[in-house]
Amino acid sequence: QLESSKSQKAKEDRFLGGLLAAGFEEQSCLSRYQSASFRKSHSHSPSDYLRRRLRKYEELHQKCAPNSDLYNTAAEQLKPGRRGSQTTDCSYVVWISYSGLGNRMLTLASAFLYALLTNRVLLVDRGADLTDLFCEPFPGASWLLPLDFPLSQFRNFNISSPESYGNMLKKNVINNISQNLPPPPFMYLHLGHDYGEHDKLFFCQDDQHLLRGVPWLVLRSDNYFVPSLFLIPSYEEELGKLFPKRDAVFHHLARYLLHPTNSVWGLITRYYQSYLAGADERVGIQIRVFENESGTFQHVLEQVLRCTQNQKILPQVAARNETVLITNDKRLKAVLLTSLSSGYADLIRNMYWEHPAITGEMISVHQPSHEEHQQTDKQTHNMKAWAEMYLLSLTDVLVTSAWSTFGYVAQGLGGMKPWILVKPENRMVPDPPCLLAMSMEPCFHAPPFYDCKTKRGADTGEMVPHVRHCEDMSWGLKVV
Ligand code: GDP
Repeated sequence: QLESSKSQKAKEDRFLGGLLAAGFEEQSCLSRYQSASFRKSHSHSPSDYLRRRLRKYEELHQKCAPNSDLYNTAAEQLKPGRRGSQTTDCSYVVWISYSGLGNRMLTLASAFLYALLTNRVLLVDRGADLTDLFCEPFPGASWLLPLDFPLSQFRNFNISSPESYGNMLKKNVINNISQNLPPPPFMYLHLGHDYGEHDKLFFCQDDQHLLRGVPWLVLRSDNYFVPSLFLIPSYEEELGKLFPKRDAVFHHLARYLLHPTNSVWGLITRYYQSYLAGADERVGIQIRVFENESGTFQHVLEQVLRCTQNQKILPQVAARNETVLITNDKRLKAVLLTSLSSGYADLIRNMYWEHPAITGEMISVHQPSHEEHQQTDKQTHNMKAWAEMYLLSLTDVLVTSAWSTFGYVAQGLGGMKPWILVKPENRMVPDPPCLLAMSMEPCFHAPPFYDCKTKRGADTGEMVPHVRHCEDMSWGLKVV
């Protein structure tokens, strides 16, 4: 009995508390099966309801999968001259690959949640490198948009495309839909940070109602738009059931959806085992500097040291000539530092070499890569970026940079509330240098400020207790 409940437990852990489905070939995506053994036993379990909904989603995805009969029928409507009133059993959200890797991971999770809420199937544009980065997440059917997808111009959709929901509203094209005419076969949802007031009406319940009949929604975003979905009354109940602990939305969705490919998993596991596994404690520090120049900035170094030492994440060092009693039990703290520049890690490593830590701890400092510049489309660059986000998520204490989606992914995957390095103004060390996050959720950087009921501007950070303004961006929204 004990043995069988033990093996049941091991099996559940392996599938992250039932979050993941069985039914994959293990070799095709080792990270799916091995990630549990790298992570601390997790305290955030998925709800039964979320597990059931995911299994139901997987069935729907198989039924409507690319190149299935139902897919072919739905895709047929997109061909020129075929705009009719056909109804389809399958409707879709097409995710367009856009922006930096951290942003893309946040929008993938947002688009998937939207698909879950609206009973749509998520298909993704593979862009330059998606298949190098992520395994297929759904058993038995691909999530990749077929290369012969009939709406070939979809990658060029932008804020001024006449096919966008916002522009259709603006030009009054959309009223036709409400007058019981058949819905158009597709609509483009422009949800990028630069979107306009009409695009933003996407986040209103009546507009959601209108969109329901459109078989294909093609979505472009660079933002984690989940917080605003929480403000749509018709999704409230379902979201409450899916995520009784609201602040774990990205945590569960990212662990469900975003599995490193075997090559990226190799980068992660080799690094972890070589540099981090042997330590008594692991500290992750993610340094992202939003300046026009690259390089190492003194005020950022100082900020990192002040934050980590004030919060006792890293020890102070002894002054010259001060002796530190070294006890026999030397604790080893490994610091994983990620940054585009190599200067910070070099300086901190040197500091702990030249001076003893007053606690007697040994501090090792490791930085996997220093790519100097952001290069959004270079393949190995993004594989390393993904590996680094993942490695940060395996640490015990995390320090991240304000405004950075790279850090949001790490904290969410790891299920951690990070210390956020406040964004410096005028190259000065902010006081305080860092703040503890309210929740592990990412911040929505460009939310609408609009009350759909009164049709007036309103502070969306004041509407419900669980959607608040972010710690790192006063106009952003996050779920807490
Ligand atoms: P954000 O700009 O910080 O919100 O994060 P994104 O991931 O969306 O875009 C930044 C891009 O710059 C990443 O995708 C990486 O390609 C690169 N980058 C930024 N910081 C790092 C880092 O610490 N390590 C690596 N390898 N790449 C980084």
